[in-house]
Amino acid sequence: MKKGIAASKGYAIGKVFIQEHEEIVITDAKVSDVAAEKEKLQKALEACKEQLTAIKEKTLAEIGEHEAQVFEAHLTLLDDPEFTGQMEMTIEGDSLNAMKAVQSVTDTFVMIFESMEDDYMRERAADIKDVSKRIISNLAGKGGSGFAITEANTVVVAYDLTPSDTAQLDRSKVVGFLTDIGGRTSHSAIMARTLEIPAVVGLGDITKSVKNGDSIIVDGMEGFAIINPSEEVIAEYVAKKEKFAAEQEELKKLIEVKTVTKSGKRIEVCGNIGKPEDIDQVLANGGDGVGLFRTEFLYMDRDSAPTEEEQFQAYKTVLEKANGKQIVIRTLDIGGDKVLPYLPLPEEMNPFLGYRAIRLCLDRKDIFRVQIRALLRASVYGNLCVMFPMISGLEEFQAAKAFVEECRAELHAEGVKTSDTTQWGIMVEIPAAAVMADELAKYVDFFSIGTNDLIQYTLAADRMSEKVSYLYNPMHPAVLRLIKMTIDGAHKHGKWVGMCGEMAGDEAAIPTLVEYGLDEFSMSATSILTAKKIILEQE
Ligand code: PEP
Ligand code: MG
Repeated sequence: MKKGIAASKGYAIGKVFIQEHEEIVITDAKVSDVAAEKEKLQKALEACKEQLTAIKEKTLAEIGEHEAQVFEAHLTLLDDPEFTGQMEMTIEGDSLNAMKAVQSVTDTFVMIFESMEDDYMRERAADIKDVSKRIISNLAGKGGSGFAITEANTVVVAYDLTPSDTAQLDRSKVVGFLTDIGGRTSHSAIMARTLEIPAVVGLGDITKSVKNGDSIIVDGMEGFAIINPSEEVIAEYVAKKEKFAAEQEELKKLIEVKTVTKSGKRIEVCGNIGKPEDIDQVLANGGDGVGLFRTEFLYMDRDSAPTEEEQFQAYKTVLEKANGKQIVIRTLDIGGDKVLPYLPLPEEMNPFLGYRAIRLCLDRKDIFRVQIRALLRASVYGNLCVMFPMISGLEEFQAAKAFVEECRAELHAEGVKTSDTTQWGIMVEIPAAAVMADELAKYVDFFSIGTNDLIQYTLAADRMSEKVSYLYNPMHPAVLRLIKMTIDGAHKHGKWVGMCGEMAGDEAAIPTLVEYGLDEFSMSATSILTAKKIILEQE
């Protein structure tokens, strides 16, 4: 048995197909005809574009818009003069052969991305490698990557599966995949979840531990692979697989079902999103709306802050797609572990206790104004709730709210309409806000409990530190008391309470949260149906 990271739920029993890690030999050879080498590179780039466009179309038709975007990103990379221009310059400057030039430019880019703190950005290095592999393969005359699987019940075993490999997997034959490297947020893992192919990644040396044709079990729930299992173990997994499949089918029946407890309380189950298009998956999984739109993602991956118009379009898109369902948008929560290259923040000993979120926005009204104006303009397109992150006391909420009214007056003077039914709330993620909830509830329209931060502040256990992760416990009685106080405080004044931290999707915590009277749960799209099922079983 080999242990890895569970990347996509489910079980698979099949035969190993090892995707050979085909080594193309790249030398340091110099070239005499630089122009001809550049021409070769151009041809390879064109071929890559054709292949990627075809994969993108296939993905769009067979998987979905969201997944197809990976290939759009690859195509953008091929058009990025920083990336491909650098390759040409390397050929020219060093008279280097094209393959070596591609490899050396890729290595530099990959190094930059891999050194980033953010998991998501680190995983993006995989996209650069994927594109580079394709260019080199085309330069070597091998065409794009891709492999033909002819046998049914195949478990693909690979060093790494690129997003393009994953998108091309023939779902009628491939029942699971296992890789040596990768993490839960790698694109191949994300795609496996959408394709509903059980997968385990980061297994270390699975490619070296199996042979083609070996029988193998993929346990995508616990995150391990069992090589050449006994008849008994196979029988055990056949039963598990059948049970899981039946449960998944059952869950799909809940897509349209309104979540009501046995005693008749209606509870909203919503999704967390980072980009406007993420709402598609929330709605497809039967989400009642969006409980947290982390707008800082609109500010990432770029050289300057998004303009008022760009933000307005993003918020309007989500509100229109929601078709009347409630959308909770959180104002910019930057700082802590989230930094922007174009917004240098002061060095602090404890950035999570420092200059971040609402503190920064109230200090940098120039930045805040752009977002608030965009939100107010978008407010007429749907059912909008706006919340401020990291509120520690009433003054901050009142200052933020006063600023909203200032921006609203500005817009009205310009003849722009805004909605007067927008709800204005706060995230309860600082213990002080939870303790004072019954006071704060007099002023706000709603609360959303941010347990990711609330837990770290309550237990003084940094959410980023593996060393103290044993202390980071959502079910700690102190955390539970604060949650209960927040809910009771809000209800005393007739206000609703949601939860958008990871705890909301934690199967073990849901019954307690329902018992406490939580009104709305917001979580990743793929957890929605399981959460609905659990809530429906509660009193
Ligand atoms: C939280 O703190 O629970 C939360 C939802 O916000 P974030 O994870 O973005 O800090
Ligand atoms: Mg938070």
